[in-house]
Amino acid sequence: SVVEVTAAKLPLQPEPGLVLVLHEVTELRRLEHMRREFVSNVSHELKTPLTSIQAYADTLMEGGLEDEENSRLFLSRILEQSDRLQHLIQDMLRLARIESQSEAFLLKPIPLKDALEKCVESRQTVARSRNVELHLAHGVPAVNVLAESSGLQTIIDNLVSNGLNYTREGGRVDVSSRLEGDQVLIIVEDNGIGIAHEHLERIFERFYRVDKARTRGLGGTGLGLAIVKHLANVFHGDIEVDSEVGRGSRFIVRLPVLKEPVQSLQPSEGRK
Ligand code: ADP
Repeated sequence: SVVEVTAAKLPLQPEPGLVLVLHEVTELRRLEHMRREFVSNVSHELKTPLTSIQAYADTLMEGGLEDEENSRLFLSRILEQSDRLQHLIQDMLRLARIESQSEAFLLKPIPLKDALEKCVESRQTVARSRNVELHLAHGVPAVNVLAESSGLQTIIDNLVSNGLNYTREGGRVDVSSRLEGDQVLIIVEDNGIGIAHEHLERIFERFYRVDKARTRGLGGTGLGLAIVKHLANVFHGDIEVDSEVGRGSRFIVRLPVLKEPVQSLQPSEGRK
């Protein structure tokens, strides 16, 4: 990095101010580099679906409309790609809002069990359609976490969706939770394709994907994990991952636990 190179040429006891300036220059360069990379990634991500939309529309204009079956196929592809664009834009806006903190997060106590149950339930149809078993383990601690409801859902949902996306037919995704000190762990584990060690550090970066072709085919935007990490930080928590190629991945989100008693939002809770 810039600091290392320049520091070699510094006098043995550099002025503290000088070192500070060097740090700032390095940081500025790093930010500038990230900004450029981001703009180039965004342009590419937007261009890909737009190009297919144009190609399908062109073909229809140039006589493709006469064949009804083909017309339907092409129109459905156009819709698919528009959906992808829409997701991408939604995710980008969401990330930008979280980052600029302009999304005024109103953190309030949320019963973790309810949030996990709701999310796992809402993904069951997708899981069944892919022949992947999705399961919420018993024994979710009866605690509240201080979060914002839709943000907490997004965290769980993005991790579960990834689990389903990157697991082969017949595989499984397990969601569980346990206490550790004054934190509660949300664990989403799959026995899918796994992630090679060299990629692990980078998967939380925006648009970083291990296999670009595969993930685009699955409708991913490459922003899911970046959003999860940012949200976990907004809720004063963090995320870690552990994975092995061919065996599966385990994502663990840690959030601080609120000590107050849990008041369930779901009426069915009381009957259990
Ligand atoms: P995407 O929309 O591509 O899924 P994410 O930010 O959610 O974007 O994930 C980034 C990348 O991390 C993915 O493209 C994939 O390569 C890898 N990844 C995420 N979750 C898993 C998982 N459970 N198993 C294997 N690879 C994963």
